[in-house]
Amino acid sequence: MRTSIKSILIFLLLLSFVSYAQEEINIVNGKVVEYDKCGFPMDDSDLGQFISPEYMDYSYDSLLIDLELWRMSEYVKIDSIGLSVQGRPLWQLTISSDPNNVAGKRTVHIHARTHPQETEGFYVTEEMIKILLSETEFAQTARANCVFYVIPMYNPDGVVLGLPRRNANNIDLEANWNTFPHQPEVAALKARFTQLMASPNPIEVMLNMHSSSLCTRYFVYHHENGTSPNFALLQQEFINGVRTYFPNAIEPYNYFISWTSGTALQYPESWCWLNHGENIMAITYEDKYRPSCSTSGNYDSTANAILRGVLDYMNITTDAEQAADLTPTEFKLEQNYPNPFNPSTTISFTIPNVTLSGVEGSRVQLKVYDILGNEITTLVNDYRDAGIYNVQFTMHNLASGIYFYTLQTGDFVESKKMVLLR
Ligand SMILES: [Zn+2]
Repeated sequence: MRTSIKSILIFLLLLSFVSYAQEEINIVNGKVVEYDKCGFPMDDSDLGQFISPEYMDYSYDSLLIDLELWRMSEYVKIDSIGLSVQGRPLWQLTISSDPNNVAGKRTVHIHARTHPQETEGFYVTEEMIKILLSETEFAQTARANCVFYVIPMYNPDGVVLGLPRRNANNIDLEANWNTFPHQPEVAALKARFTQLMASPNPIEVMLNMHSSSLCTRYFVYHHENGTSPNFALLQQEFINGVRTYFPNAIEPYNYFISWTSGTALQYPESWCWLNHGENIMAITYEDKYRPSCSTSGNYDSTANAILRGVLDYMNITTDAEQAADLTPTEFKLEQNYPNPFNPSTTISFTIPNVTLSGVEGSRVQLKVYDILGNEITTLVNDYRDAGIYNVQFTMHNLASGIYFYTLQTGDFVESKKMVLLR
């Protein structure tokens, strides 16, 4: 009797994993292939066409270099939340007006690169870091009210080893939050969440940054059957809010629906939901995976939309309405500031509302030349939506003198002069 109850329970448990683990099923060459929320086959042996090592172009060393750059900001503290299987630090940025004293700040948590091949989710995260470290009114408001904990590379071993979706133990960290014993990376992030949730300022928004083979930008929406009717509404409010800042670029909330028949237990969001319910807006964002998608990019616009959406969701007043009212009507290239400069300066430019068929925004190039016309660097080479952009850059290892910067987009070309004074 006891055995049969036990086996029924085990059967039910297995059934629950089977029925919730899959997000989508397709038959490929007679074989059933299950896809995860990022639009990739769950079984690595089915990845085939989805693997593009050349797009895993942000390495662990790139992160170490960026950490040194970010560390120069007074708004950042850098430490780690633990170690990977192979002993690499799980680096953490603490961003706030005073990162050493975050008492009273409201907490946002962001982690990226769980799946090493999904660099685009990281690039959006990188742009969020840049925005948060800038001197815009929005950034100042964000830092004054909040503390942002950012784990830019949650799976460093996978990145170093060139594993598209797994860690050094060949485990998918995204889908094993309910597997015991935990992978060290899962244990570290879970412990960190637990610690923050027990603090006076628990996490209010948790963003899990990925990219998807579906060539769309979307949030993974958790159905009310797996959460609650009120949490479903909160998710709609959050996703709709983000979308207002980047219209037609991020899919509606009901584009990708998960947990339609219960809570899938294996994800970080499940842990948040089961332990803290409606108190955490825990949600996965999926950016456009480049190897599957010629229209990927616009990481800065996406980052801007997500951060503004986060602050709106937390009812923190920003310069948002002001920004939303700006509907530029012509191209403009501003004089850099400061000028002369040493070694950093900022260039602002404006992209008006123009529609190029089938393309989001305008193709924009911003380049720097020396006085002989030699190209020094490309600051922007990307599609940009209508808006006002600030590009801050630093000229290392260059001699004092006159340089030019040129904005080119469509038929519009304008150059201005700037002076580097060492
Ligand atoms: Zn992913």
